[in-house]
Amino acid sequence: MEALEETLLSSATIAARVKELGAEITRDYQGKDLIVIGILKGALPFMADLIREIKLPLKYDLMAVSSYGVSTKTSGAVQILKDIEMGVEGEHVLVVEDIIDTGLTLNYLVGNLLSRKPASLKICTLLDKPSRREVDITPEYNGFTIPDRFVVGYGLDYAERFRNLPMIGVLKPEVYEKS
Ligand code: 5GP
Repeated sequence: MEALEETLLSSATIAARVKELGAEITRDYQGKDLIVIGILKGALPFMADLIREIKLPLKYDLMAVSSYGVSTKTSGAVQILKDIEMGVEGEHVLVVEDIIDTGLTLNYLVGNLLSRKPASLKICTLLDKPSRREVDITPEYNGFTIPDRFVVGYGLDYAERFRNLPMIGVLKPEVYEKS
């Protein structure tokens, strides 16, 4: 892909890891009803692949949240742009996210979802950038721990582009300069 300076994770590497995560989740939720909640837009490709590697009956729903601006950064307040349509009280909930960076988005979401009294709530993220964390949040399932670099592809965007790349990588500097 010519916009990328470097590929960090090839589509084959991602697919193999998604398979492993699916197998792990399948083992852990044996005999339980599972609701998978994907966070739009970034988690869409990951969630679509992951749910087909979870060999259990499950339901899924989607949520969209606004990213915080500079003023809301300290409070970590994010807005829910689209809420899930199903109730989660008494249900086993697995939140699927593309990447955990500062952790502010998920921290807010977890608090919000916990107030709805699910039987359990776990987090599955494709990528984790622990070096940037501002709140104490650790995903139960993590595809890859990555260094502090801005990545695109497989759902992750720069200015809404590059979400459809099958791999994950770092953009060439001239892509930023052009836009
Ligand atoms: P957090 O609240 O954990 O700081 O932010 C998580 C959100 O920030 C992700 O859902 C994603 O939208 C965005 N984000 C964080 N790091 C990256 C990155 O390296 N690339 C892209 N494209 N988005 C990122």
